[in-house]
Amino acid sequence: MKDQKLKWVGVYCGSRDGAKPSYREAAHAFGRELAKNGLSLVYGGAQSGLMGAVADGVLEGGQAVTGVLPHGLARAEFAHPRLTTLHLTESMHERKAKMESLSDAFVALPGGFGTLDELFEILTWAQVGLHSKPVGLLNVGGYWDPLEAQIRMGFDEGFIPPTLKTTLVVEKTPAALIARLLAHAPPPSAIKWIQRE
Ligand code: AMP
Repeated sequence: MKDQKLKWVGVYCGSRDGAKPSYREAAHAFGRELAKNGLSLVYGGAQSGLMGAVADGVLEGGQAVTGVLPHGLARAEFAHPRLTTLHLTESMHERKAKMESLSDAFVALPGGFGTLDELFEILTWAQVGLHSKPVGLLNVGGYWDPLEAQIRMGFDEGFIPPTLKTTLVVEKTPAALIARLLAHAPPPSAIKWIQRE
């Protein structure tokens, strides 16, 4: 890809498969679509659930996959066996910071508490000006509909700054979501509450 600003996409998603086969299929298709666009993956490094499916899709498409795992989770049954690069961290906090520093954009696929935790943390970091990278939600089968409604409520009721409207992008298909991430321009008016040293 020439002159492409976006290269590494950090993906947060379920360590489980979810109740329907469509979730795993969508995660695999998203990985394939990343690779088709010359994009590489940063993720939690596990083999299980949607995490393994998205990594398999990217690897099958011939792009690199970086896993970031805390030591405690790095046992053989958790780590994906074909990672291009594995970073081991001391803690979950260090892992999240490492994933942020390695990624040019972030995407949440369907998932549970771990996924929600990572999604909200990266959105909060955008809100306080720690980064100005786009954050995407792949809304597979309406899984994120209730969350999207809650976030809209947050904007409407004045609890989420309007600058975040361009940060968060929601799409139903991998191709549409990736196209919007590639086209993303950071909001000029993002407030920098905290400056990196
Ligand atoms: P969850 O949505 O609760 O399944 O959690 C998935 C998210 O939390 C992933 O994006 C991971 O970064 C992290 N995570 C949760 N469980 C694991 C695990 N067993 N191995 C690696 N990462 C995990």
